[in-house]
Parts: sequence; structure tokens; C-alpha cells
Amino acid sequence: MENKNRFILALDQGTTSSRAILVDHDCRIVASSQKSIEPLYPRPGWVEHDPQEIWASQSSVAAETVAKANLSGLDIACIGITNQRETTILWDRETSLPLANAIVWQDRRTSAYCEELREKGYDKMIFEKTGLVLDAYFSATKIRWMLDNIEGIRARAEKGEVCFGTVDSWLVWKFTRGRYHITDVTNASRTMLYNIHTLQWDDELLELFGIPPSILPEVKPSSEVYCTTATTLFSTKIPISGIAGDQQAALFGQLCTEPGMTKATYGTGCFVMMNTGDRPRISANRMLTTVAWQIGGRTTYALEGSVFVGGAVVQWLRDGLHLFFTAPQSEALALSVEDNGGVYFVPALTGLGAPYWDQYARGLIIGLTRGTHAGHIARAALEAIAFQVCDVVKAMEKDMGRPAIEMHVDGGAVSNNFLMQFQADLTRAGVVRPEILETTALGAAFLAGLAVGFWRDTGEIASHIAVDRRFDPEKSPAEAEALLDRWHKAVERAREWAKEEL
Ligand code: ADP
Repeated sequence: MENKNRFILALDQGTTSSRAILVDHDCRIVASSQKSIEPLYPRPGWVEHDPQEIWASQSSVAAETVAKANLSGLDIACIGITNQRETTILWDRETSLPLANAIVWQDRRTSAYCEELREKGYDKMIFEKTGLVLDAYFSATKIRWMLDNIEGIRARAEKGEVCFGTVDSWLVWKFTRGRYHITDVTNASRTMLYNIHTLQWDDELLELFGIPPSILPEVKPSSEVYCTTATTLFSTKIPISGIAGDQQAALFGQLCTEPGMTKATYGTGCFVMMNTGDRPRISANRMLTTVAWQIGGRTTYALEGSVFVGGAVVQWLRDGLHLFFTAPQSEALALSVEDNGGVYFVPALTGLGAPYWDQYARGLIIGLTRGTHAGHIARAALEAIAFQVCDVVKAMEKDMGRPAIEMHVDGGAVSNNFLMQFQADLTRAGVVRPEILETTALGAAFLAGLAVGFWRDTGEIASHIAVDRRFDPEKSPAEAEALLDRWHKAVERAREWAKEEL
């Protein structure tokens, strides 16, 4: 069948839901389905998922989407997978049954162990090898916890009876009925066991965490025909040919394929990633270094930085202060005033992420006068989202030694035109908002499609992608500098605030 009449099935297994979308040759979404998944909170700080629920929800939305479009497996050229990263699953190699619930990336149960390792000075070695800041987020300490705390598992793991995988590995295992135990290089790079320079599992790290190599999946490129499905879900065997972690998939979905190109996702938090080209740049500015993708034998790297409170500050104004009823109303309120009136809002509601990494910082609204009203507060809150993203982008620019080329944006808050314009004013780079904001799933579809020749190259894909709107800087550089300067003064005042309470 001609590619024009076929579709790509992209699966997006996230922390709160499993989604599936069908993409046609013109990069349009022709059908989609979604099912929420229930996180489990067995103790404070612990977050788990049932791996069977992950599989059941993901496989059912996959089948549902194909059925919704009135298609069969024969119409599907290939499957691409993108997933919540770092979440850790162990299962029985023989029976395919999970050995415990998945430990989700947000889970903090291994924080104390991370602290111990830091005190012993291992953080430097880990950062140099993996590009990651030693933290409980990443899979390594979660695997170790399972091996130490689930009875009998360590002995079984040493005998080769146990498989470890991030969510991508688990899905491929289930889709192939246990024939393929693989992961892709982007997911591997978030385990804290993978050396991003040698592109191999790292023996020294495996030894440090006490992890037997036999449990590890084989690491594959992000775009390649890995296997075909062996389930009865579809009427035919479908190649699985693209895998990437969610942020990397979004970077690819935004076609940020040149060094310096950056994507920023504005959701509850903000996630920024910059393509740094074919060699890893170890950050001097507290960014993470990670593999962006590996295609056709070429590895592309990225810098990554996250802001904890992004769109969440708008939620807080809505639900905490009752300034408006819906998030989009924040824009009209912000535009009801001419400028921020000297008001700055540091939304460190849960500390500050990159580049500050200050867990003791707390929220601050400063510069209030008798003339301040709700419009100024709303404006300061929206500006704060852009200030924080700008701080991350500027840190990345320092690491790269050159300015960012365009910011490609996605996430719920990008419909806010004021926010996007202010972002362009601050970062001094064009802000590009695509028409289709499903960039994560699109990225998985692109990776999969390129591997089977559905599209020739990224140039052909780009010819199908429409820009909704582009924002270019309107304020002068001096104005932007002055705003940033005041913001940084406000940030200084918010820092370490909660330390005194302890
Ligand atoms: P997540 O995937 O993290 O749940 P979404 O990408 O769905 O987040 O984005 C939702 C976030 O975007 C919420 O925090 C909400 O407050 C914010 N948001 C949505 N629309 C707007 C808007 N027009 N202006 C500002 N913020 C918005």
C-alpha cells in the first residue's frame, strides 16, 4: 500500500494517562484516544503505577484509536513509542509478570540514599559519566531499592531471571510477547547507569549501585525497525520502529534538529531542551546533559532544564486567590494594565528548579504599592513563567557558547499570546508556536516513520508542519535587560527563605 494511504500509530505513555494517536502522511492527526491511569501513593513521598495497568491502558487505547478511524492493522505502517522517563519496572523473564509496582520518577523513597552517595563524593563521577545530577528521579537508585527490598529478587536477578525496563521496554516486551528486551538510547540516558560518552551501560556505575548487568535491556537507536508486534491486538504484525523519552520526543516533534534549536513546554512545570549537536556538553550552569536521539548511527545530544512552577502559578491565581475562573482569563487581566507596575512574582511555591536548584526558596510577590491591583499580580505571574524559562535558556546559551536559535513551544499555556510575546522579548529569539501542539506523540511518529521510509527525511516532514504563529522580540534589548535585572533581584530575596524554618 502507498504511504499516502497509510498511518503511523504513536503511543504516548505518560504519568497521568496513556494516549494513542494516528498520524497520516501529511502529519495530520486523524484519530486519538486517551485513558487516565491511577497513580498509587502507598506512603508519603512514594509514587507507584501498576505495570499491568500501564500495559492494559496503553494497548487498549492503541486498538481503540485504530478502530475509531475505521482502520485495521494493515493500514498501520509502524508504531512509535514515547513514554514517561525514568519510571522503573522489574518483571519475571519467564512469566512476564511484574515483580512489584513500577516506581514512578516522582518517587522520593531513595532520597536519603542519594544524600549518602553525595556525602561520599560520588555525585561528580555520576555527573561526568551520565550528565545527570545525582537524584532519586533517575532509575538507578529505584532498581537498587527493589533489589534490596523485594524478597528473593536479588538472587533471582543474579541468575538472569529478572528483567529491568523503563516504560518503553515494558511496552515492547508486552507487544512482542517477551521476545524483545530493548530500550532506546534516550531512555537509557535517564537511568543514571548509562555512560553518554561511550554510549554503553557503565560497569563502574552498575557496581556502585549493585545492579547485575543481566537485568538490563539492549540499547537501540531511537529510529530503527526493532521488531514487529506479536499480540492479537491488531490483525497483522506491525513494526515498532521509533522510541524516545517524552521530552526528547517533543524536541524531535518540534523538528529542533539543528544545534541551538530549543523547545519549551509550558505545562504545570516548564521543560526546556536545547539541541547541542553531536557531542555532549557537560554543563557549567547546572543543566542536565542527555541524549536527544540517535538516528542512522549519529547521536545528537541536548541540554535540559526544568522549571517547577510554570502554568501552575496560573492555577494558583485561579484556585488560591480566585482572581479569575479560567486560566485563559489570566491574559485579559494581565493586559488590563500597561505594565507590571514594578510588581515581581517569584513563584517558588515548591522551591526553584534550574538553574537555581534551591529547595528552600519560597514564593514572593514584591514591589506592591497602593496602586497595585489584580491586573499587576496576574501580569507579574505570567511574566514570571517567561523569566524562569529565560533563565534556563540563558544558562544553556552559556554552555553552548552561542545564542539559542528559535524557541519552539508547546503545552497548555502557549495559547497565552501575552506570555509568548513576553518570552520572545526576554530571550531575544523568535518563539514559534506550531499548529499541532501534540509534539510528543508527533515526535514518536516521526522517529518511527523515518525508520520505515514513510517520510524520506525531516525536510519532507517539515514541509507538512504548519506554524500557528511566530513571535519576534518587540521590546528593546535595554528594556529586556532592565526587566531581567529586577527579576533577579526579586529571586535573590526569595532564595533560601524556608531554611530558617528548619
Ligand atoms: P500538564 O501536561 O502539565 O498537565 P498542560 O500542558 O495541560 O499541563 O497545561 C496546563 C497548564 O497550563 C495549567 O497549569 C494551566 O494553568 C496553564 N494554562 C492553560 N491555559 C493557559 C492560558 N491561556 N494562560 C496561562 N496559563 C494557561
